Amino acid sequence: MKLLERARPQILHLQPYSSARMEARHRGVMLNANESPWAPVGSDASALNRYPDPQPTALRVSLAELYEVAPERVLIGRGSDEAIDLLVRAFCREGRDAVLISPPTFGMYAVAARIQGATVIEVPLASDFAVDADALLAAVTEDTKLVFLCTPNNPTGNLVPLTLIAHLADALRDRAVLVVDEAYLEFADEAPSAIILQQRHENIAVLRTLSKAYALAGARVGALIADARLVALLRRIQAPYPLPAPSVSAALTALSAVAVAESRVRIDILRSERERLVVALAAAQGVVAVYLSAANFLCVRFVDAARTYSRLLEYGVVVRDVSHYPQLAGCLRITIGTASENAQLLAALGLREAAA
Ligand code: PMP
Repeated sequence: MKLLERARPQILHLQPYSSARMEARHRGVMLNANESPWAPVGSDASALNRYPDPQPTALRVSLAELYEVAPERVLIGRGSDEAIDLLVRAFCREGRDAVLISPPTFGMYAVAARIQGATVIEVPLASDFAVDADALLAAVTEDTKLVFLCTPNNPTGNLVPLTLIAHLADALRDRAVLVVDEAYLEFADEAPSAIILQQRHENIAVLRTLSKAYALAGARVGALIADARLVALLRRIQAPYPLPAPSVSAALTALSAVAVAESRVRIDILRSERERLVVALAAAQGVVAVYLSAANFLCVRFVDAARTYSRLLEYGVVVRDVSHYPQLAGCLRITIGTASENAQLLAALGLREAAA
């Protein structure tokens, strides 16, 4: 895979840490990892005295089934945030390499790049929040290693068409990893994942997470779906035991067939709540625009975002002020809550009748 040769030489030549758990799995008398031989005091979680499996097989298999890929194409991390960080650290040489983003978008791509000392090339979204493919490709330099796309995009909520993703992947072949962040894809109406493009485009890496649709933001479980060789490269620089055992077991519970079916019912509820809010907010005084969203949030432009934000706070409703993002002056990002939470939001905006 030619693209992997674009990783930092230090990473390619690194002798990775070999953890006790990688060298020998749990069996017999375990005296190889300097663990306590007892369960923690006051706890009945007997396995917690042991270091967890770095990439637990059962969870990897469950995620592979969920995303319909082979298990070796799955890298499990502490949220999808960790995969963003691993990609930047693996590919970007300080002071030399670059990542490309299309703002307004999720802030962690640029933050991870800046922590690493990489350049951040910004190609703004068009006025309708569409990705400008020509401008993006024109801005790619010799040292651009990662191009981030977010679909649905946070905070604008719009999808990036699969045809455009395929076109970019083609143009970036052997040059850059096209990172497609699908943190909110479950909330879109039948939008296919860029995972289906990976067979033809080995430079596409897809980010997924259990934080949103599977209600596990507190457990910190995300996945990168990519070519097995890229997954193996990132494993070299991941912490020895990235996944806390309680998080792994919470993820496995959330991925049982019954739980997945229940999560799908909840996703449908959030989708219909989203449509209800779009209609109600569009009619509200002080609202300039409600942007169509394929995610579990709405980006709404107000006449006076600061005043609306404070008013909502007075009523105990906390939303995200995104008015400082490029192109989003006057905008607040509103997460879709339960029907009663959404009713409180509408009431705080003076839309009591719509909330009934
Ligand atoms: N990608 C996007 C677009 C996000 O909005 C977020 C969280 N807000 C993440 C990734 C990170 O999510 P997590 O680390 O919880 O998987």
